[in-house]
Amino acid sequence: MPQLPLWITPLLDALLGRDPRRRRHVLFVLATGQLYAVSLAVTLQSASLGLLSTTLAHALVVASFAVFLTVYVLVRSGWSARLVDPVLTFPHALACVALCMAAYLCLGSQRGNVMILVAQTIVAAMFRLRPQQVLLLGCASVLMLALAVTGLYHHDPQRYTAAIGWLHLTVGGATILLLSLIAKWVADIRVRMGRQARDLQDALSTVQQLATTDMLTGLMNRRMMGDVLEREIRLGHRHGTPLCVALIDIDHFKQVNDRHGHAIGDALLQQLADTARKELRQVDQLARWGGEEFLLMLPNVSATEAGVALERLRLQVRRMTVPERPGLAISISAGLAQLQPDETLDDLLERADTALYAAKRGGRDRWVTAVVEAQPGATPSPDHPMLIDLRSVARLQGDGA
Ligand code: GH3
Ligand code: MG
Ligand code: MG
Repeated sequence: MPQLPLWITPLLDALLGRDPRRRRHVLFVLATGQLYAVSLAVTLQSASLGLLSTTLAHALVVASFAVFLTVYVLVRSGWSARLVDPVLTFPHALACVALCMAAYLCLGSQRGNVMILVAQTIVAAMFRLRPQQVLLLGCASVLMLALAVTGLYHHDPQRYTAAIGWLHLTVGGATILLLSLIAKWVADIRVRMGRQARDLQDALSTVQQLATTDMLTGLMNRRMMGDVLEREIRLGHRHGTPLCVALIDIDHFKQVNDRHGHAIGDALLQQLADTARKELRQVDQLARWGGEEFLLMLPNVSATEAGVALERLRLQVRRMTVPERPGLAISISAGLAQLQPDETLDDLLERADTALYAAKRGGRDRWVTAVVEAQPGATPSPDHPMLIDLRSVARLQGDGA
């Protein structure tokens, strides 16, 4: 891309502002400048042909410049930013039509050309105005034309006869009204399409949310977590960074439902999700894996560090209370597994599940780490009595069978 001269950027910043939204608005106002340029050319040309006095020509140029400058300053300064239409389309278009009518009064035999400028103003405005505003602009234009025609007739009935006045009013007025109706129709389509685009966007976000979120807890659902895990495992293998997962299951949840009702069970599931959100790091991800089972993913931590987080969560879950059922407390069991080199997601989850099973068999309200390396005569770790290896898990499974 060719390099812009150094002075261009500060010049554009000064002219348009730095905020991208404001810049778009100011650019729209500046684009209307071409209408002013056309009317300026018509006015000056008419003056040079003697159709218009120099004084009137100057007065028209100054009035047009004042309108354009006022709109530019209001938009560029940000004053109009808080309004529904920050570009000030409606008042700007009305002011332009009023200027056209002033030109109509001054331009003598060339005044018919002014109608082209009125039409251009309505066409330009229909891309930003609401449909009703387009109609209002059309009606206001016809009213201003009627006032101009009446004024001219009263001022100079010899040259501006009633017949000319009626001709201009009927042809000009009908053209303006027809154009306004077409412009309203276009504005209607524009509004409808905008609404449809917004509805479609909303529907898409809802579908995306439904596809990725668990509605009860607001957590990620199993599908989404599967995708996230696949990605994290790929990254873990590529960069050699640690990754842990923990399968968490509420203890005796069926009894909670049976004794206190499904609604209380649901409230507990939601509370558990809230507790986890508060207790865990931002990068840790929790998903509802199904029923009363959750899957926790802890990136960039070893099993020991993940265990600390899991223990914190376990303790907080035990402290959870339900206002409607004082005295009701629940606990969780979890199986923790750290990703091994070249391990697949299925294998990782299977180890976590086996460890969870061991935690249940071990008495619940605890977590167990699945250790890959089998240690002879495995015993619970001295610093954490719940840390056991896979051999113990296998033995426990054997016990349960
Ligand atoms: P364990 O300690 O062995 O995990 O016992 P448990 O009772 O929790 O296990 P089990 O799998 O037998 O029961 C799980 C219960 O979770 C059964 C079901 O009623 C309940 N459950 C699953 N999904 C929901 C849910 O969305 N809302 C409520 N309230 N309960 C649910
Ligand atoms: Mg359970
Ligand atoms: Mg379960």
